[in-house]
Amino acid sequence: MPDDWQRALVVVAHPDDIEYGIAVAVAVWTAAGKEVHYLLATRGEAGIAGLSPVEAGPLREEEERRSAAVVGVSEVEFLDHRDGVLEAGLELRRDLAAALRRHRPDLVVTMYGGDCWTPPQVTPAALNSPDHRALTRTVLDAVADAANEWIFPDLTETPWSGVQYIAVSEIGRDAPHVVDVTAAVEPAVASLTEHRRYLEALSDDPVEEQARRQVDMATMTEDGGRQVGFRLYWG
Ligand SMILES: [Zn+2]
Repeated sequence: MPDDWQRALVVVAHPDDIEYGIAVAVAVWTAAGKEVHYLLATRGEAGIAGLSPVEAGPLREEEERRSAAVVGVSEVEFLDHRDGVLEAGLELRRDLAAALRRHRPDLVVTMYGGDCWTPPQVTPAALNSPDHRALTRTVLDAVADAANEWIFPDLTETPWSGVQYIAVSEIGRDAPHVVDVTAAVEPAVASLTEHRRYLEALSDDPVEEQARRQVDMATMTEDGGRQVGFRLYWG
């Protein structure tokens, strides 16, 4: 994974999307002195069974801010799109372009947006969520929009053309770029643990146990190492 950047913006759909893998790399980067900001398209208000969106939205926003703080991130912005019905359209592209201009990152990091979480040979395959697919596709497009003063001429923010790389989180074992995260496993577990109310609704297992299991799944390699992987784009 290239190291010649200073400011990163991590863009995802929901609170917790970063903490299932990307946050462990964030912990490595902030410990090395990089500046990382988070941008979330929604507040994840449709994410907790039995809890109304009106209550879940603020609660999940607060959990995300605490998760971010654990791995050295103090800037967390929410775009107010509706959870569950995110569309890969011009409205989201425009909002993302404006946010990219505000945060002015060298590196844009986003989540895995493929159709399925599982490798192609696994059947039945585990479907990725429509919000995730829409978000990732739109982030890739919005980076060019942020640099072009004519695509969304009503935006008041100064265009930003400084993005050097877009890194998309990669599942499986064949990521072309990897970050060694051996030193960041504990902060990553602590960060995911901050989504306490959300994890309590998912399983009866203790929250810390769930968080450790998820971070292990996202980082452990066959030879006992710890890494997360990305595919890089520019354009
Ligand atoms: Zn999500």
